[in-house]
Amino acid sequence: MFGPAGLADYHVHTRRCGHATGNMAEYVANARIKGLREIGFADHIPQYFLPETARDSSLAMREGELDAYVGEVLALGAGYKDVTVKLGIEADYAPGHEGALKAVLDRYPFDYVLGSVHYINGWGFDNPAHVDGYAGKEIDALYGVYFGLIQRMAATGLFDVVAHPDLLKKFGYRPKCDVMPLYESAVRSIAAAGMAVEINTAGLRQPAREIYPAPAFLAMCFECGVPVVLGSDAHRPDDVGRDFEAAAALLRRVGYRETAVFEKRRRSSAPLP
Ligand code: ZN
Ligand code: FE
Ligand code: FE
Ligand code: ZN
Repeated sequence: MFGPAGLADYHVHTRRCGHATGNMAEYVANARIKGLREIGFADHIPQYFLPETARDSSLAMREGELDAYVGEVLALGAGYKDVTVKLGIEADYAPGHEGALKAVLDRYPFDYVLGSVHYINGWGFDNPAHVDGYAGKEIDALYGVYFGLIQRMAATGLFDVVAHPDLLKKFGYRPKCDVMPLYESAVRSIAAAGMAVEINTAGLRQPAREIYPAPAFLAMCFECGVPVVLGSDAHRPDDVGRDFEAAAALLRRVGYRETAVFEKRRRSSAPLP
């Protein structure tokens, strides 16, 4: 089996988002213990898409904290020789707010931007506090809407990586319809946009009990030449690099022999160890 050593974890949160624990140095310490070559912080971007009074500091850092977040990651990164610390951000895709997002992204020297769909018509479908929202919904239709948003997100050109590509399965609500056509149009859009996808192991720790994305989605990505990065979505230091053995094994099974690496939003590749 393949350990996490030599891999990069590009999806790590910090206490600033209001629902993660631990110091940033502890996240890096865990990356070093596990032998990761890179750790990329990608905390939740301030909720630029909501009116100021509606922003929730338990879901994302406040607007005024972004400077400090960026400064802290950059300062931390200068202190290690054996692991590279990257500056990422997890940015929500919110239709109609592309200009506001671009303005925020352009202000900082991000190495990469994870694009996430966390909301369907204002409903935070991956938020445990709003899981009741699934009741009474047509799940098949929901998947159509979700993957439609993924396509529109790709078309904006604002993001480098599709985070947790099939996040809608998080709480175990699975479609009955054939999802392959949905996967196919999503993957085509992602490939056309030149984006990468994230292999996110957090799905294993949720009712979905499966890595995001599903193997069939990942196989299509491989066929279409879509690059991949790995992410643990760690919200506590212990979860850095979690289940990366399983993620690397899945990648190899599908055919991947390398992963994408980002620096100042430019992509290159590194061999899968
Ligand atoms: Zn979070
Ligand atoms: Fe997310
Ligand atoms: Fe996340
Ligand atoms: Zn996430």
